Amino acid sequence: MSTQPLAPIEEPSGPRHCLFVSDVHLEAPGGAAERQFLHFLRTDAARAEALYILGDLFESWVGDDDPGHREVIAALAALSGSGVACFLLHGNRDFLLGEGFCARTGCRLLPDPVITRFGGEPVLLTHGDALCTDDHAYQELRTLVRAPRWQRRFLALPLATRELLANEVRAGSKSHTARTPPRVMDVNPQAVDAAFRATQVRRMIHGHTHRPAVHDALAGGQAVQRIVLGAWYEQGSVLRYQDGLYKLCELAR
Ligand code: MN
Repeated sequence: MSTQPLAPIEEPSGPRHCLFVSDVHLEAPGGAAERQFLHFLRTDAARAEALYILGDLFESWVGDDDPGHREVIAALAALSGSGVACFLLHGNRDFLLGEGFCARTGCRLLPDPVITRFGGEPVLLTHGDALCTDDHAYQELRTLVRAPRWQRRFLALPLATRELLANEVRAGSKSHTARTPPRVMDVNPQAVDAAFRATQVRRMIHGHTHRPAVHDALAGGQAVQRIVLGAWYEQGSVLRYQDGLYKLCELAR
């Protein structure tokens, strides 16, 4: 008995070549991370169909009237203007990025979490901080600062006051991180399992923990994969999706 070769499955599959980054943590202009990220935007990212920034692009963002980071904003605007779709998720440091930033850069803000299709496969994208449920102090802070009422009141303060408060929060966050056990700062395995079961996806991509890795596991009897992007403090970390394959890469400085 002869069999016909299977016809390729045609379905709306989304972009075929995209890049994912997270936790670039841009701070002072002219720093090594900024130079590397600008180079990345003008080279690698310019050749992709889409760029996904999964949160914490900036070390701090106190409102869209922030006058800093002009070169990065111009480079993102040039990239999206050239036809590369740029998507952005909020991180725990730049959750006040808003429509003003999107208008200046051409980036599109996505909700966190969000499910997007790559090669026809639904994939869960998230910054990752919501999965760190063992860090109770942080989760309480997160609930507070993500409330629309808190954000309206904060954004109504003068820029200089917001910057001062943000510096205090960052100092508090640094000392909290220093005295919290590393296990508590990582994702909670049950929270990851629950996310896979609730969304029925087989793959998720996140950052935040600064522990780049590809974790293969089982959730509800299904093989699942969790890809974790690294931070850009010491080197760049990029996930490339091309022709159905995912590849996590380090960009050496
Ligand atoms: Mn983060």
